[in-house]
Amino acid sequence: MPGRPRAEPDVAYELTRLALEVSDCFRCPRLVAWRELVAREKVARFAHDEYWGRPVPGWGDPEARILICGLAPAAHGGNRTGRIFTGDRSGDFLFAALHRAGFANRPTSIGWGDGLKLRGVYVGAVNRCAPPGNRPTPVERDNCLPYLVRELRTLTSVRVVLPLGAYAWDGAVRALAALGEVVRPAPRFGHGLEARIGPYTLLGTFHPSQQNTFTGRLTGSMMDTVLERAKQLARSD
Ligand code: SF4
Repeated sequence: MPGRPRAEPDVAYELTRLALEVSDCFRCPRLVAWRELVAREKVARFAHDEYWGRPVPGWGDPEARILICGLAPAAHGGNRTGRIFTGDRSGDFLFAALHRAGFANRPTSIGWGDGLKLRGVYVGAVNRCAPPGNRPTPVERDNCLPYLVRELRTLTSVRVVLPLGAYAWDGAVRALAALGEVVRPAPRFGHGLEARIGPYTLLGTFHPSQQNTFTGRLTGSMMDTVLERAKQLARSD
């Protein structure tokens, strides 16, 4: 049966290789200590879970035209489940929206083995280890950024980068600059704002943190609008 041509096998292979490399990274001593401490101490509601406690690689469709970029895994989300935006409220919000937009086959993201599949999108982050207070230092950001750069280089179909929040926006601009795609002055972040950088369009959205979603700063319909725009942009290039 005719269908979409699949991604070159070397894309999937390189993503797997990168995921293994990321999972075994110890470059930031403070974050290594923190991710392991959180994994040992846990939190009462997940006291019986085995935490991943390691860096969390990106994942998704090797043919993705949209790369969603977060800040870092959540201490009791990705750091627990081993999958980015999985097992926390931000992920609940994000994957429900991706499902409504047709990018995910299920509205929930619980953990590896839940059957969740992404189509047309790949999800990564600026930092791959959960940072204390959700605040990586500039050195920790720079240590980790090469992984995002390699994802962008490997995911050759990506045309839209969707950073979740100002920190991810800044990280994406830096990653694109590392690929030689520099714009001056650096484009400013805003919800729904777009910036053309080389062959990519950067499309900003507020981060789906509880701080934003519980206060109504970011609503489901705002996220739906951004994802529809991402879809249009991904089709148009
Ligand atoms: S944040 Fe990135 S660079 Fe630092 S230890 Fe984790 S995976 Fe390695």
